[in-house]
Amino acid sequence: MNETSLLRRTTDHALAFIDSLAHRPVCATAAPAELRAALDRPFPETGLAPEQVIDELVRDVSTGLLGTPSGRFFGWVIGGTLPAAIAADWLTSTWDQNAAIYACSPAAAIIEEIAGRWLKQLLGIPSSASFALVTGCQMAHTTALAAARHHLLADRGWDVERRGLAGAPAIRILTTAARHETLIRAARLLGIGDAAICLLPCDDAERMQLPYLEDALRECPNVPTIVCLQAGDLHAGAFDPFAEACAIAHANAAWVHIDGAFGLWVATSPRLRSLLAGAERADSWATDGHKWLNLPYDSGLAFVSHPPAHRAALSQPASYRIEIDDVRDQADWTPEWSRRARGFALYAALRSLGRAGIAELVERCCAQAHRLVTGIGALPGAEVVVTPQINQGLVRFLADDGDHDGRTDTVIERIQASGIAWFGGATWHDKRVMRVSVSNWRTNDNDVDRAIESVRMILVEI
Ligand SMILES: *Cc1c(COP(=O)(O)O)cnc(C)c1O
Repeated sequence: MNETSLLRRTTDHALAFIDSLAHRPVCATAAPAELRAALDRPFPETGLAPEQVIDELVRDVSTGLLGTPSGRFFGWVIGGTLPAAIAADWLTSTWDQNAAIYACSPAAAIIEEIAGRWLKQLLGIPSSASFALVTGCQMAHTTALAAARHHLLADRGWDVERRGLAGAPAIRILTTAARHETLIRAARLLGIGDAAICLLPCDDAERMQLPYLEDALRECPNVPTIVCLQAGDLHAGAFDPFAEACAIAHANAAWVHIDGAFGLWVATSPRLRSLLAGAERADSWATDGHKWLNLPYDSGLAFVSHPPAHRAALSQPASYRIEIDDVRDQADWTPEWSRRARGFALYAALRSLGRAGIAELVERCCAQAHRLVTGIGALPGAEVVVTPQINQGLVRFLADDGDHDGRTDTVIERIQASGIAWFGGATWHDKRVMRVSVSNWRTNDNDVDRAIESVRMILVEI
């Protein structure tokens, strides 16, 4: 089979998968042993026909695919993929551009430049900020905090890129229990270490309490400090008081970083954007394209309001680079060298939705999260733990014998196994809860109704 026929056939496989989302189980049904039995063949000595390889791949992974692109997937914060983004992503693979520097792919470099500018306008980030398209919010934190590390240590006369961290003033991070684990790992990768991270107490709405921030900064005025704030935490979708926290942090020469992996996207909604008031005063921001914007993986986004610090932290000259005036080499801003031209899918998604379309997607997801949480919470034996302020909420299930945690886990397992919808569990303030997260453009009212009905049936059965 020639290349053209193979790719046409593969398109059919992809379209069949998309068609199947309406009826295939949302859960993966295969056990690890079944997947190994299907996939772990003797490594072939000689190659096989590509169409055989692809047909068998499609067949053998099918039951091991989680239905994350389905409209009834409400686990973690995953998002689906917009049609324009899938199409652009297919082309990205086909074009096989290396988006390391302009000379490697002029189109990829220019499209990133444009998408970066559009994103700053869309997300309420100052137009003078630098940016980087990276693999995910994890690497966006790493990129932004590398800039923070450079800036704070340069202020103290320490050139961290040259001298490393041994002997440098120790950096600390002030954040709260609502921070995401990826922030901890970013700090670790940058040599800051878990022990340098101080979790300040939150109020009842999961927001940083400012007096603790003020005290922590005043107690150790000379310690280089990064204050990490949350724009939409994973469980309650909480937003820290940005304006006040930035004022306090900046009065104490601290750097402010905002984790807005999905929450930063409420900037697009006239109804919700006040949650981000003051966020534009931060020094850096991290978010994702692959969550709420519904891009394919991988798509993380970092922004830094001190471009020289950002560039100094990441840029690396090399004799074989081709320097061209008046263009942006991505390698000066990202932690990677060879990289996927992830700007194409981003650009396509932004154009296909437009400003109004993105706002509508964000508000629709929030409305559906609200319907899901209140709908499930109204069922006998269910309880709302957090009503969504944006697209995240929590519920739990009450047991006659008082083992609410056990019953909540059982209900989650049963829903997952039903294949009708998929919710995940978490421990929140010492209670087991079921997370309800809506971030897929595909989720419609019928999906929400079916999900609530599936929970109702399970509560009757168990
Ligand atoms: C998902 C998430 C992250 C990590 O993002 P990745 O793209 O998975 O690296 C960080 N912070 C928050 C709040 C998240 O929801």
